[in-house]
Amino acid sequence: MNFKITKIEIIPLQIELNEPFIISIGPMTHARITAVKVHINNGLFGTGECCPYRTIHTESQEGSVESGQHLAKALIGKDVTQIMRINKIMQQLIPEHASIKAAIDMAVYDLNAKIVGQPLYRYLHGDRDKRIYTDMTISLMDLESMVEKSIENKKKGFPVLKIKLGDPDSANDVDRVTAIRQAVGDGYPLCLDANQGWDYQGAVNALTAMASLDISHCEAPIFSGKHDELKAIREISPIPIMGDESVFSPEDAHQMIHKGCIDQVNIKLGKSSGIYQAMKLASVAESAGVECQVGCFSETRLGISALVHYSMAWDHIIHHDLDSPLMQSEDPILGGLTYHDDWSVSVSEEPGIGASYDQNFLDKWDKIEIT
Ligand SMILES: [Mg+2]
Repeated sequence: MNFKITKIEIIPLQIELNEPFIISIGPMTHARITAVKVHINNGLFGTGECCPYRTIHTESQEGSVESGQHLAKALIGKDVTQIMRINKIMQQLIPEHASIKAAIDMAVYDLNAKIVGQPLYRYLHGDRDKRIYTDMTISLMDLESMVEKSIENKKKGFPVLKIKLGDPDSANDVDRVTAIRQAVGDGYPLCLDANQGWDYQGAVNALTAMASLDISHCEAPIFSGKHDELKAIREISPIPIMGDESVFSPEDAHQMIHKGCIDQVNIKLGKSSGIYQAMKLASVAESAGVECQVGCFSETRLGISALVHYSMAWDHIIHHDLDSPLMQSEDPILGGLTYHDDWSVSVSEEPGIGASYDQNFLDKWDKIEIT
């Protein structure tokens, strides 16, 4: 039986954040998301989304829409169950623009799991009983504000805080983390993300100065292209180094792990071009004994639901940064993951991702239809 793609809708939209989200490359006030709906000839549709960060993806929201149309034209008429073929077509047409390929791939996986009537995690051979808790991210601000936010989020019960750093003067970041550790107390899990904001010496100084602060890992201390420097930092650092901006593809993971640049990998569907490549990436890390995190850009609960289904398929994904929907002023998603009081998350047993956009919300935005 053939399940032909008959129509692809591309809908660029915006959701205001509760407060600006600030990382070392600047503040963000809105999540600029490109939603994708893929329809097939039996009346089913699948939904995906992406949230391109220009500084990380070299892909703007406008770029994702333009590339999406190009990809959609090539996919009309193709059998949606041919996931490898679909991914090959997308990769050959547009080697860059991982975000929009991820959105289409997510919709394709949603459809494939719906076709067999299974929740996505089961389609991916995942473990229904895997316990997953989200962290909460603290924006890069002045020391007092970051301490205040850390105390507030510890009180809310988040089991781990991810502290955004990357101050050009890394000594300021050491002061921030020292003050946060003092405020939240010993034993409370903290991890760091410098978003490539330090230089080599700044990273060495900061990481060694924070040796006694009981930090689980630090993402992206320096610019992603500087592999030799990152390797040298990792050899000195008392804190494990997690690759994020430096690891998009399975090949990146292989290279960074085997060069000795990183201890852990942060997997994001929006970097790997979707679930198909993320499955390979997780396998590369697992075979090297490298533990992983899954993380987000500024997706809604739809994209994060897909990410949770994906994580359920892998034991060595032990860190979860699933907080982007919690920062949004509006939740346009029906179904999908639930955040529980202890910040564990669960997904439904509905077929596919189990989440879709409220059509009333989508109708507010201009959409492009490819048939
Ligand atoms: Mg990061």
